[in-house]
Amino acid sequence: MQNLLSLLPKIDNILKHKDFSHYNPVLLKQIAKEVLQDIRKKILQKTIATTPRQEEIFSCIQKKYHQITTPSFQPLINATGIVLQTNLGRSIFSPSIIHKSLPLLSEYNNLEYDLIKGERGERYTHVKEIICALFECEDALVVNNNAAAVMLIINTFAKEKEVVISRGELVEIGGSFRIPEVIKQSGAKLIEVGATNKTHLKDYQNAINEETTMLLKVHQSNFSQTGFVQHVDFKEIKELAQKHNIIDYYDVGSGYIKGISCNEPSLIEIAKLSPSLVSFSGDKLLGGPQAGIIFGKTHLIEKLKKNHLLRALRIDKISLIFLQETLLAYLHNSLQEIPTIALLNQDIKEILQKAKDLLELLKNLKNFSTQIIPTASKAGGGSLPDMIFDSYAIALQHNHKNVQSLSVKLRLQGLIARIKNNQILLDLRCINQEHFAKIQNILEDLD
Ligand SMILES: *Cc1c(COP(=O)(O)O)cnc(C)c1O
Repeated sequence: MQNLLSLLPKIDNILKHKDFSHYNPVLLKQIAKEVLQDIRKKILQKTIATTPRQEEIFSCIQKKYHQITTPSFQPLINATGIVLQTNLGRSIFSPSIIHKSLPLLSEYNNLEYDLIKGERGERYTHVKEIICALFECEDALVVNNNAAAVMLIINTFAKEKEVVISRGELVEIGGSFRIPEVIKQSGAKLIEVGATNKTHLKDYQNAINEETTMLLKVHQSNFSQTGFVQHVDFKEIKELAQKHNIIDYYDVGSGYIKGISCNEPSLIEIAKLSPSLVSFSGDKLLGGPQAGIIFGKTHLIEKLKKNHLLRALRIDKISLIFLQETLLAYLHNSLQEIPTIALLNQDIKEILQKAKDLLELLKNLKNFSTQIIPTASKAGGGSLPDMIFDSYAIALQHNHKNVQSLSVKLRLQGLIARIKNNQILLDLRCINQEHFAKIQNILEDLD
């Protein structure tokens, strides 16, 4: 046995070997040690009777090394029909937005540099005017995401003070972001009013005292209530706040501007009410990068900018560049540049045609049964919970493989599908012609 162990290559020789000359030495050493240790254990436990050959050991090290150094991020085909899949990265970008943004990343830029004065500028100036033009508002500020916007606003204006909110709006957004917790974390006292299903204006009115600094309305975003339900319109909340000289703040969340026919409150309509503060996400219905967009009254935005917390919550330059281009697309009414809008607006005939074209490519599969069925896509990302977007899917079944194991195999090949009624559904909404060949290959391999 000692003999077998002595035949193992020495760590130092592995590290010096030409096969590994391009390898990171620290990682290589770590992996080589693990591999050798594993073999030593097997020899001692007598689960192997001979020492593996050097090539086998090297190949094992190489495999482990590549596993660790291959980027874990990978592109996926979204066949779920959910346009804003938070787990799949929410919004995607069009080639035109990427094309316009890229040169700013490979060169220095004026992120915080005032070219006229030749001195330090503000990163927010790049989008402020565009946001003000879109919403006809006084001022704007952008931060890392909408959760950060909520924190910044509450912390700036309501620390050790009271914020009034309806019990019907104490929402939880995916990833355990809960409005009540965020408000407490921001140092404010939460005053809940009304009942889960019904809140009246007088509930807000009765809660206002000297400690109240803000009436907060939170868009329900990811759920809806039906039946015996009543909520107070933001317009009335705004008027009440104004009468008491306190702040009205509407956290709209999904941030719908225009381009989709839906019953979501449009930010343009909300902006017409001249609210104190509004915030929304950059990567939900807006279809841009992760960001929290805040607009409203100048004197309040100025105060937000003075809060030191802003430094920790600030938006990074990459997101800011993509946000600028996305907002410009809205300003120019060039909505075809926003994939989120284009995907949600797709004509049903176009989706059906894609389904037929893909089905044609799959006609030689032997063990799969394939058929086109009508289905319903969703907006997702905590947006438009009630809206169903008619769509078409290719329903798949395999003669021998069950749908569960099949869906895992598809997933590992980068095709994310839905299971319904013991069938795999490939919803064509977020699939385009460029994905067809890959889908065909994946299915032929599994046939
Ligand atoms: C999504 C959402 C948030 C959080 O926004 P992120 O951009 O994901 O941080 C906050 N409030 C509401 C109402 C939301 O819908």
